[in-house]
Amino acid sequence: MRVPFLDLGRVHAPMRDELTDVWWTVLRQSAFIAGTFTERFEEQFATYCERRHCVGVANGTDAIELILAGLGIGPGDEVIVPANTFIATAEAVVNVGAVPVFADVDASRLLIDSEHVSQLITGRTAAVMAVHLYGQPVDMSQLTAVAERAGIVVIEDAAQAHGARWRGGRVGSFGAAAAFSFYPGKNLGALGDGGAVVTDDAELARRVRSLANHGRSQDRHHEHLVVGRNSRLDGLQAGFLSVKLRGLDAGNALRRAVHSSYELELGQREDVVMLGKHEAAEPVHHLEVIRTSRRDQVRAELAAAGIATGVHYPIPCHRQPAFRSHAQVQLPVAERAAREVLSLPMFPSLTPSDIAAVCSEVIAALEVQA
Ligand SMILES: *Cc1c(COP(=O)(O)O)cnc(C)c1O
Repeated sequence: MRVPFLDLGRVHAPMRDELTDVWWTVLRQSAFIAGTFTERFEEQFATYCERRHCVGVANGTDAIELILAGLGIGPGDEVIVPANTFIATAEAVVNVGAVPVFADVDASRLLIDSEHVSQLITGRTAAVMAVHLYGQPVDMSQLTAVAERAGIVVIEDAAQAHGARWRGGRVGSFGAAAAFSFYPGKNLGALGDGGAVVTDDAELARRVRSLANHGRSQDRHHEHLVVGRNSRLDGLQAGFLSVKLRGLDAGNALRRAVHSSYELELGQREDVVMLGKHEAAEPVHHLEVIRTSRRDQVRAELAAAGIATGVHYPIPCHRQPAFRSHAQVQLPVAERAAREVLSLPMFPSLTPSDIAAVCSEVIAALEVQA
């Protein structure tokens, strides 16, 4: 490949010594599960997200599920989820026994459409998932207003948006709680799996921590208050995450610069649609998503030219075989987007010559077809 989609080796090379030090310290202290590394990272990440509490968990999917369970959402409840998201958002809803109700997305940023959400609310709706997809913050002013009017809870899925801001506030600081993933490819990624729940609600944080630790009582170690599970952020990953958190804002700034270069080269073309902007949004460009009606051909041309791309996501959730009971639902914006979206290489250490190569191949691919 001339230009990889994501080169984690390149991202991690400058931090090699710091990351290696973490490994030796964790090994020396045998601080594998819980312990100081996890506690320290939880404090740092809560502060970063402008929240009072952070609970480290095993992955982002568990984080969503534990928030739902911690809020008492389960059988008999409906949770509104955007159709354009990674399947984990909807999967977590099903895994607590609730029913996902799929909402369409807005045509400009492909994020959950608050207007459609308001039409989907029923007497059974318990919550709505604000998925800050591709690193773009959802319009939290609109969505919160809709949720407040209906008396339902907003939960943020911030797995793709560490550090993004909406009207100056960090994503993760708006809903009742927010779920983060530290899957290696995310803007803040561990060197393995990891996740976190952040919230200002001390009682919810306590319940999530207990559920993630076998339903254990806080003070009586051998007492298990509810049936929980095991979902922990281990000390080694927490240590790596503390190192990487220090570079998150700088990494996001580099992503912004990469995005600006793409925009400069591709933004004026009539045959390419870039994601829309919102004046209150400060996105962190987890993915560089463009839209073209000839997506599959362009993608094949790029692959032939050594440019790796992705598609996020080619099948909207309500069209997935796993959600076949929702197959009759029609969500025209999400369905059209699924045919048109193409993710170009995006990571902080992408070079100007990488970007130039990607753009000239995109343009060449579009012109082959025209
Ligand atoms: C990655 C991701 C998740 C799941 O996180 P994992 O850590 O992989 O379990 C959930 N929602 C969205 C939007 C994601 O991108």
